[in-house]
Parts: sequence; C-alpha cells; structure tokens
Amino acid sequence: MTTVGFIGLGIMGAPMAANLAKAGYDVIGYNRSRPAVDELVKQGGRAAGSVAEAVRESDVVITMLPDSPDVSEVALGDDGILANAKDDLLFIDCSTIRPDATRTIADAATAAGVRVLDAPVSGGQAGAVGGTLSIMVGGTPDGFAAAKPILERVGTTIVHVGPAGAGQTVKAANQLIVAGTIELVAEAIVFLEAHGVDTDAAVKVLAGGLAGNAILDRKAAGMLKRDFTPGFRLELHHKDLGIVQSAAREAGVAIPLGAVVSQLVAALVNRGDGALDHSSLLKLVSELSGR
Ligand code: NAD
Repeated sequence: MTTVGFIGLGIMGAPMAANLAKAGYDVIGYNRSRPAVDELVKQGGRAAGSVAEAVRESDVVITMLPDSPDVSEVALGDDGILANAKDDLLFIDCSTIRPDATRTIADAATAAGVRVLDAPVSGGQAGAVGGTLSIMVGGTPDGFAAAKPILERVGTTIVHVGPAGAGQTVKAANQLIVAGTIELVAEAIVFLEAHGVDTDAAVKVLAGGLAGNAILDRKAAGMLKRDFTPGFRLELHHKDLGIVQSAAREAGVAIPLGAVVSQLVAALVNRGDGALDHSSLLKLVSELSGR
C-alpha cells in the first residue's frame, strides 16, 4: 500500500487528504494546529505530530500550505521533508507559491535524490471536496507519470505543463484570470442592482451566453446575498497577485487590468478584509459606487 504524507490540512488540504484516504491510500497527515489532524483521523487517515513523522515512512509527500516561505521551511528546514525523505520519495507540492521558490526547492530535492513536482490546483473548496480539481503540473515526465494515479483521486483535469516551476507559472495565469473575472462580475452585479433589474434572472441569462464563466456559475449567488464566507481567502489571492506581478515584470509583459485588480485586492486586505472570500471585491465596488 502506498503511504502518503499530507502536510497542510486547511480548506483545501483537508478534503484532498480525506479523498486519498477514502480511495484506499494510507494517509498520514500533519497540520500546524491539531484539530485538523484529528479530523483527518475521523476520515480514515492517521495522525502525525511533526513534519518528520509525516515524511519518514511515506512513499509520497504532498504539501498544501499557504505561501512560499511555508513550503520552503517545511521542505528544506533542518527537520523537514528532504531531511527525512526515504530513497526515491515523490514530493508533490500542491500549494500556490512563487515559481522561483519552486525551482530552488526542486534543485535541492533533486540533489537529495527526491523526485519533485509543483502541482498547484484550481477549482476551489468545492473542487477539493468533490475531487474535481484542475491540476497544473511542473516537473519531469517520469515524476508526472508516478504522480498521476494519486492526482486522479483529487482532480479530474491533470495536465503536465512543463519542467519544474511551470505549474506555478500556469497557476499565476489562472489567478490573474480569476481575479479579473471576479472584479467584472462584481461590477456587473452592482450595475444591475443600481438599475433595479432582477439580478437572479440576469445572472441566469448571462451565464448562458458569451459572458458565461465559472465565477457567475459558482460565486454569483453568494455575492448577491453578500455571503463572503471563504472559500478562497482574499489574503491568499493578494499573495498570488504579487506572484503574477513579479512574474510579469520578469518576463517583460504588461498586465494593466491585472495591475488594477491587484490594487483593489490590496486595498481590501490592507483595511482588514483579508480573511473574507475573494468575491468580497464586490464590497469595494459597492462602496466606490456610493452604495
Ligand atoms: P488554509 O490557510 O486554509 O490552509 C493551510 C493549512 O496549512 C492550515 O491548516 C495551516 O494550519 C497549515 N500550515 C501552515 N503552515 C504550516 C506548517 N509550517 N506546517 C504544517 N501546517 C501548516 O489555506 P488553503 O485555502 O487550504 O490554501 C492552501 C494553498 O492552496 C494556498 O497556497 C492557496 O493559495 C492554494 N489554493 C487555495 C484554494 C482555495 O480555494 N482555498 C484554491 C486553489 C489553491
């Protein structure tokens, strides 16, 4: 039986780890706060009290952590993943982090004899719960082939997009599109409300035409009710837009709409709304419109 060490049991990691346990993998989970580990045990997994404990006996280790420093520390730290890896460990980082941080980690892993993939995901909490994530994978073809049966238990669209770091670059493009789309849907909702239109009916017909998109399908209902329970925390999207902006600058690419939406997200985070869902961009549009 394949043993999978799963580190980071938050909004995304918890259901992903539970789906792997349900699929018959021996999942040993670690999280910084303990209740998430106890919850995994209820879902059929085992508990680890440290990163080392989650890694030592594992054939595969998956991380689902907030940001680049978290993954760097857990992977490269004194008692981290590389320090405790079995020979030929397969390390799959599903977090969204900087492509350059990913490449640094990949170089260190390869030097330590660990196979490594960046495999950030899209599809949100619903995709994680339903096992229907879209997964963009960077790394070697051999690593990808080894990881595919496991990734198929947490996602439905799994694509090898290039060498180490390429998955993160594709994910950055994903986050640019998602943030821009939320902003436009938010502006459309405030516009429709100001005109006194039946917004439920409007969203329904818009979703069926060329304006149709996943934000209208999955987020508009919550936005209309002003329910901003995360979901995807705005502060994580703020982190991702920082990655997008620096990667665009590095490549010499102009992203004017991306820059505007980055500033709007930053404004919400700076005033204390970072723990809300990213659909709370609607709040700012409402306020800018005096509504
Ligand atoms: P989260 O904050 O809910 O979960 C992160 C978990 O990691 C927390 O439970 C935290 O306690 C744990 N953690 C942090 N540092 C740790 C450490 N050093 N050791 C062990 N555990 C540690 O975040 P999330 O929403 O699950 O997102 C995780 C990653 O996935 C982020 O990079 C995010 O950008 C990305 N992502 C999130 C979504 C979403 O919809 N929430 C969608 C796609 C991708």
